[in-house]
Amino acid sequence: MSKIKVGVLGATGAVGQRFVQMLQGHPWFEITALMASERSAGKRYVDACRWNLRGDMPEAVREMIIEECEPGPDCQIVFSALPSETAGEIEEEFAAAGYVVCSNARNHRYDDDVPLLIPEVNPEHLALIDIQKRNRGWSGYITTNPNCSTTHLVSALHPLHVRFGVKKVFVVTMQAISGAGYPGVSSMDILDNVIPYISGEEEKMEHKEPQKLLGVFDGVGVRYADIVVSAHCNRVPTRNGHLEAVSVEFEEKPTQEQIVQAWRDYRPLAQQLKLPSAPQPAIIYDERIDRPQPRLDRMAGTVPGMATVVGRLRPDPLLHYKFMALGHNTIRGAAGGSLLNAELLVAQGYLGQASALLAESAMIA
Ligand code: NAP
Repeated sequence: MSKIKVGVLGATGAVGQRFVQMLQGHPWFEITALMASERSAGKRYVDACRWNLRGDMPEAVREMIIEECEPGPDCQIVFSALPSETAGEIEEEFAAAGYVVCSNARNHRYDDDVPLLIPEVNPEHLALIDIQKRNRGWSGYITTNPNCSTTHLVSALHPLHVRFGVKKVFVVTMQAISGAGYPGVSSMDILDNVIPYISGEEEKMEHKEPQKLLGVFDGVGVRYADIVVSAHCNRVPTRNGHLEAVSVEFEEKPTQEQIVQAWRDYRPLAQQLKLPSAPQPAIIYDERIDRPQPRLDRMAGTVPGMATVVGRLRPDPLLHYKFMALGHNTIRGAAGGSLLNAELLVAQGYLGQASALLAESAMIA
């Protein structure tokens, strides 16, 4: 069975390189196009891209010629790792031209007819795709994944929200340097330091993303969840892995054991379907007193970098309980999140003939 052709927009950047890395050897997808700015277009990937990930640049992409970010390349899905200054318009052009756009950028996350997705959390929001295509007259469509810190916060909260109803959340993030792209924050600013400000991050976590992700699709649109979030976002001198200190209040206060049980029982659709990039389990509860830690635990689980690790669950004197959550920011928080979204689209029949062929070949559970 031939693979689905995919392209990467912003392929030379921090998230773009993760896409390239994660797509190597993928059972369903193969890279047929790499796109970046006009500075890189026309160059070989090996010459235009300063490879910053562990291990060598994959052989299969070294000689590929980078194209400009314009519709035309021979692929069905485009993964977008473009900066928000340019992503909005370019992604729309691709969707209008019939491509399936899986985006990391923030531009379309809050559009009423665009799914903001975590496959484990809100796969039913895929129904927005038909509404989007109708509204905009596009033959393609856009899906988005949340910001890297929201991804792991909401992943940890989802099984608790389903059982006990999350009412209030107080979260303090300790976010890795790679979250700012490359070269990102200057070493003179971040070494021996913590920067208590990340532009736009607290607004995304407080007002929009958790509420949309945990909201209900009512047949017409998403009714946002009624959850109050207070967020303090900080940049800390770790390379990868966002650590978050979370306090939470519920509609119905559970016992500590019930919370642990909710995490342990969690087996959402992405895991049931055995999507190739879905970690089994999605949430790892670590009982050790001093875990999770970014350096030790960001790659935990069956698909490295894709799980959310939680620990240090204990009573909270202000809200009901508090715990720590950790997850990789450029893997599950960015490229891996989009990749899993694309796998869900294929498995749920949103890739037309390609979906049907994969289902026939029994590659989908
Ligand atoms: P980055 O390292 O700065 O990479 C930007 C990429 O976009 C490069 O490939 C660059 O190509 C290309 N580009 C820049 N300007 C362009 C233009 N005018 N037209 C076409 N291509 C252009 O950024 P990043 O950290 O990978 O972030 C990419 C996106 O993912 C952003 O929207 C960011 O907010 C989001 N995101 C990042 C993280 C993270 O942990 N880093 C997490 C979640 C979401 P050239 O090399 O040719 O300049």
